[in-house]
Amino acid sequence: MQASIANSIVAALQQVLGVQSAALHEPRFGGNEWRYLKECLDSTFVSSVGKFVDRLEADLADYTGSAYAVAVVNGTSALHIALMLAGVRQGDEVLLPSLTFVATANAASYCGAVPHFVDSEIATLGIDANRLRQYLSDKTEMTSGLCINRETGRVIRALVPMHCFGHPGDIDGLLAVARDFNIVMVEDAAESLGSWYGHRHTGTFGKLGTLSFNGNKTITTGGGGAILTQDLELAKLAKHMTTTAKQSHVWEYSHDMVGYNYRMPNINAALGCAQLEQLPELINAKRRLYQAYEEAFAEVAGVELFREPAGSQSNYWLQTLLLSEDNKDQRDAILSATNTLGLMTRPAWTLMHRLPAYEGCPRMASLSVAENLADRIINIPSGSALGMGLD
Ligand SMILES: *Cc1c(COP(=O)(O)O)cnc(C)c1O
Repeated sequence: MQASIANSIVAALQQVLGVQSAALHEPRFGGNEWRYLKECLDSTFVSSVGKFVDRLEADLADYTGSAYAVAVVNGTSALHIALMLAGVRQGDEVLLPSLTFVATANAASYCGAVPHFVDSEIATLGIDANRLRQYLSDKTEMTSGLCINRETGRVIRALVPMHCFGHPGDIDGLLAVARDFNIVMVEDAAESLGSWYGHRHTGTFGKLGTLSFNGNKTITTGGGGAILTQDLELAKLAKHMTTTAKQSHVWEYSHDMVGYNYRMPNINAALGCAQLEQLPELINAKRRLYQAYEEAFAEVAGVELFREPAGSQSNYWLQTLLLSEDNKDQRDAILSATNTLGLMTRPAWTLMHRLPAYEGCPRMASLSVAENLADRIINIPSGSALGMGLD
């Protein structure tokens, strides 16, 4: 019994991948990367100015349907600035899932705010909007139009859903909660470039949304990120704040507020332009990989491949196995067996409310769904290159 589910999972992975080893998520450079990088070097504009930054921003806005996109140095800084622009200040609370990458909580902390952890749902792996509504009804009161946590007395200023492993969350449900409690929604869409909720791209529903182009994401700029917004004033401020708040002038260095050096270098943007051109092809390959895994894992008892939520189209950033309840105790044996063979697999992140930096933060009394998911999730090799040869 013990060995069998691990062996069956290894066999299914090998059936699909046809190789003895595979990384969790490798980038793929199959387009104009070399050409644009050369062009960038030849121009000598490799750093904080250059045409590729403007082009990447225009191309991202075009692809996502966002009115504006501002390229920045990574996804964490994108979220930091987005939260500041959403009005998050020292002493505020920011609602976010405990089941997320640490960057979501860190960005709130950088604003001097306190992360406030909420539970997830099985259907989307994102925040459970119904339980959040009930929780806020029980634990908060509206004072002068602000949602106040009765226990801490702090303002709950923002809600940050995270589209987990690329799967869109319950956006309508969460938008309704945000509206009813006068909380600003900012989407952490770091993992969901190329994922659509209905006909609209993730990251374009909140007041602001953020993307990441880290090396392990669906497309990469080496390191990078972007802020999405529909609001021209916010877009201008995002650009200003991420470029040291320098006032435009031919020779003078003057800065009208505390700014940040969060600008994406032109050389990274050059890589991003080439990557973005290939995004539809990369996502098709990732969706084919999902199909192949689905067939292979249909034969494996005790484990299920996570499928995109109804009404959404996912980029399948990280393919996800969910162990059945009675196989939860096999998680580490499976991780060990696969990694030993060079088939890279990973569990979900350590939940935020269990990290030393965040264990004292306010949270729902029960985070049982997130805790259960953390016991059952195993991410398997997901890079687009693995799906390229599949039909
Ligand atoms: C990748 C990621 C980020 C941003 O990460 P960077 O490495 O700073 O680009 C933020 N949130 C989540 C959930 C992520 O997965």
